[in-house]
Amino acid sequence: MGSESVKVVVRCRPLNDREKALSCKMVLSMDLQRCQCFIEKPGAVDEPPKQFTFDGTYYIDQETEQMYNEIAYPLVEVRIQRDNFAYGQTGSGKSFTMQGVSEPATQKGVIPRAFEHIFENIQCAENTKFLVRASYLEIYNEEIRDLLGSDTKQRLELKEHPERGVYVRDLSMHTVHSVGECERIIEKGWRNRAVGYTLMNKDSSRSHSIFTIHLESCSTDSSGQDHLWAGKLNLVDLAGSERQSKTGATGERLREATKINLSLSALGNVISALVDGRSRYIPYRDSKLTRLLQDSLGGNTRTLMIACLSPADNNYEESLSTLRYANRAKSIQNRPRINEDPKDALLREYQEEIKKLRALLTGQLSTADLSTLLAGQFSESSPAVPSRPQSTPTEEKKEKIKEEYEERLSKLQAEYNAEQESKAKLQEDIAALRSSYESKLSSLEKAQASRGSSVPKNGNRTPCANNRTKLFCRWILPIG
Ligand code: ADP
Ligand code: MG
Repeated sequence: MGSESVKVVVRCRPLNDREKALSCKMVLSMDLQRCQCFIEKPGAVDEPPKQFTFDGTYYIDQETEQMYNEIAYPLVEVRIQRDNFAYGQTGSGKSFTMQGVSEPATQKGVIPRAFEHIFENIQCAENTKFLVRASYLEIYNEEIRDLLGSDTKQRLELKEHPERGVYVRDLSMHTVHSVGECERIIEKGWRNRAVGYTLMNKDSSRSHSIFTIHLESCSTDSSGQDHLWAGKLNLVDLAGSERQSKTGATGERLREATKINLSLSALGNVISALVDGRSRYIPYRDSKLTRLLQDSLGGNTRTLMIACLSPADNNYEESLSTLRYANRAKSIQNRPRINEDPKDALLREYQEEIKKLRALLTGQLSTADLSTLLAGQFSESSPAVPSRPQSTPTEEKKEKIKEEYEERLSKLQAEYNAEQESKAKLQEDIAALRSSYESKLSSLEKAQASRGSSVPKNGNRTPCANNRTKLFCRWILPIG
């Protein structure tokens, strides 16, 4: 599967009561058709508004339902690893977007909508068994806590596994069988989240939280063979990204804020390094958050980022910084991967390559497609990786595809040579026939001359009425 960019949408909430009481002005506007967002600098009347374009823009009246259907729904298919996450300053609507409210139903959050969606898909799947498990963690003051564990204050450790990637040791997993069960679980975790009062949002989340749905399935094909795959949906709700003087934070709140900012600036550095293209080193290890999001940013996950904004003039700096952050995130390239039994994955890839080769042989592929195909197959096995001790499954697979391709190419070459040979033989036959015909014609003309009549030389002959032309009509057409 090829690479694809991180999808980024922005959502602007209405002015809240505090902003209204402060008589704040709206500095944010959007062109929903063109997915553009404009921000005006307060007091700078002569300065044109700054403009940003995203994969989707949602203004004060747009509801979560519309946003989910347009942008999240296509991502929440069952087979791929994916992440949805919300970025923005405190009180900008991240939790409102991810968690949502039950009334009105159109403002139900992305997380409960994703549950419904997944269980709908499960109900429609035939000959397939599913296992759905959920986990919920928060990163508070650079410590990982299990929001569904027996001790929610216990610090958990991050570990790395060659196949599983980065994971949290001892994080509790909860098997769920219905949307209702998912909702109860998330409510329990939500109550355990570290929230603290700040000037900007009385329920301000002081931690980053990651809710994960782990899906495993086993489907049986028509020949009775089982195929396994596993997928994960991470729903990330980040803590606020504002400057600390704004929140009026002191003491414990300020200490929290410093840690929140540490993770968010590490996230910013990771995004910059990924977008820059020249940096070989991506500083994932600088914070727990970036290590956990390693797959979502520049990894093998399909990622949707929702940047939440306040429209008020007193939040101009934060909104502009969120827009810039989001704008940079658009350029991150991920390579989403289907997570299945390696044997199944290999078979699927072979099938895809064979399809391409078939198209090539039947002339459906352009030269450009062919170069891409060949570059994809041969470039990585070139001297860039000279001293690997053993061939990896990817190299073996490439080798196999290469062999297959060469075999087909030599068959095609043999067919072409045979065709050339038969054409040459045909031309020899024509030449022989022509000379035999010429000699017969000249002996006929001689005989006729001796009897006193002659074959007309030109004028009244139609092309195929003439024996010679008839003969050529018959032989030349199949060759031409
Ligand atoms: P954050 O998680 O970013 O700190 P919240 O999601 O808690 O912020 O939102 C702060 C307040 O703003 C909440 O009271 C929420 O109900 C309200 N709010 C946020 N987004 C919207 C929106 N799009 N429409 C209406 N109210 C919103
Ligand atoms: Mg929140």
